Formats: sequence, structure tokens, C-alpha cells
Amino acid sequence: MSDPRAEGSELRVETLLEALPYIRQFHGRTVVIKYGGAAMREERLREDFATDVVLLKYVGLNPVIVHGGGPDITSYMERLGMEVRFHEGVRVSDAETVEVAKMVLLGKVNSDIVARLNRHGQPAVGLSGEDGGLFAVRPHEKAADVGFVGDIERVDVDVLNHIAEDYIPVIASAGADEQGNSYNVNADTAAGKVAATLPAHKAIFLTDVTGWLADPGRPESLVSYATVDEVSARLGEVAGGMRPKLEACVEAIRGGTESAHIVDGRRSHSLLLELFTDAGIGTMVTG
Ligand code: ADP
Ligand code: MG
Repeated sequence: MSDPRAEGSELRVETLLEALPYIRQFHGRTVVIKYGGAAMREERLREDFATDVVLLKYVGLNPVIVHGGGPDITSYMERLGMEVRFHEGVRVSDAETVEVAKMVLLGKVNSDIVARLNRHGQPAVGLSGEDGGLFAVRPHEKAADVGFVGDIERVDVDVLNHIAEDYIPVIASAGADEQGNSYNVNADTAAGKVAATLPAHKAIFLTDVTGWLADPGRPESLVSYATVDEVSARLGEVAGGMRPKLEACVEAIRGGTESAHIVDGRRSHSLLLELFTDAGIGTMVTG
């Protein structure tokens, strides 16, 4: 009779062997991870995310985390009795809104991520686009309607390269212009710019769907692979939060990132599955 324990350990050895060529290939490479959605909201998924990121660092990758904080910003604004408004999916941000957004993003969301990574055994450093002049921001094209929402003009990756050698950089997607005005920046857009400027080896966007759906109403219409040209040609038909994600994939690849992935962050250890198994999950975009 076969020993069930032996069967289990064979499976584990197989998993390790499957990961080995990936670990070799990724050693010393940078991977930009846009963190958000359920993976940031649910306690168990937060723990899994931190475990995964720390493991990446241990096996020789340089993870760079970029995050937003949408739902937390909304809930703190509501607690303060402030009006929450969106215009075409973008948060309408007066100076007071940006002040609260920055406080929540850095004082709460960012520091929680940093503390968790530290607790799991790899030192992380939190920063926003204003630290080390990381992002140069200018007003969004719809600034008249949305207020202090910014586009990133330039990323200065010097500060990131220094930090990423020894620490895990955790970037809150906010920045300032030359006059010192602060802006909200879409976290997908920020992650795409960071990946493009480094350039990263990979960019991974965690989200609350299985990936890019050709028909948003049909989960079985997942696009598992697309080239940047295919994505660009179809951007016009993509709405909602998927649009900036796909634009960010295109930006990353055009800047020299080898592949960009939109991955279901509701699934435990989705990062490890994407990076270290033959299966690959979600949507992959390449040049
Ligand atoms: P996050 O940025 O936190 O990952 P968003 O809500 O900004 O989440 O963006 C993801 C959302 O985009 C999905 O949950 C889905 O509702 C929406 N969406 C719109 N069009 C598509 C599409 N074609 N495929 C997949 N998701 C889409
Ligand atoms: Mg979004």
C-alpha cells in the first residue's frame, strides 16, 4: 500500500522543482506589484500577501509595492462628515479631500502594509511620491471637474533603486507639483509609471476580478494573453477601473517591462501562483 505521507511530500517536491527555474530566472530582478482590492481588505488575504512578498525578497527578487487606498479614504471622509463625490470614476478632490486622503494613505494604509511586512521578517520602507522627489505631478486633464487629481509627469527611480537593494519599498500613490500642491494619483497609473521607468522585469496588478474580461458581464470571457498593440487597439471599449489598469500595462511594457499581469487578488497566494508555477493566472500582456 502507498504511504499517503509520501504522496504528499512528492507533491511538495514537485512544486519546489517547478518553481526552481523561475527562481533562477527572477534572481535579482525587480517586480512592481500594484496592491489593492480584496487582498488589501481581508485579513487572511493581507497575511497571505505579506507572506508572498517577503518570500519573493528571500528568494532574491526585488519587490516594489504601489498601493492606493480608495475605500479607507472614503470611510474616513464619511467619519469626518465630508462629502464624497466621483466624476467619471475619479474622486473629486478639493484641497481638504487631498489632505485627508494623504493622511489616510500614508498614516494608515501605507504604515499598516509596512508594519505587516516588517513583522513577516523583511524590512519595508514606506514612501509617497513626495519622498525623495519620487513623482513629479501635474494636474489631471480633467482638473477643472475633479480638482487636485494628478498625472505623473516623471518618476525619479534613484530613490527606489537605493531602497530596493535592501528594503521593500511601499509607495503610496500621492504626489506634489513644483508649487508644492498635493494630488491624488490613481494607483494603477502610478504602478505602470514606476514599472516603465525602472524598468521592472514584471508588473503585477492585483484586483477583484479574474483578469481582463472581453465582456465584463461574462467571467468565462477572460483574455489570458494579449500583446500591447491588441490592448491599445481595444482600450476605447474598456470602462471602469479596468481602463487605467490596462493603460498601466501598456505603459509598463512600452518602457521595457517584459510582461504585465492582471491577477485575481481574491485568491490566496495569487502572487506565488503567477510567478512560480507553469500555469500562470489572469491576463498577461507582453510586447
Ligand atoms: P482595483 O483598482 O482596486 O483593482 P477597480 O474597481 O478600480 O479595482 O478596477 C477593477 C474593476 O473594473 C472590476 O472589479 C470590474 O468591475 C471593472 N471592469 C470594467 N470593465 C472590465 C473588464 N472588461 N474586465 C474586467 N473588469 C472590468
Ligand atoms: Mg482602481
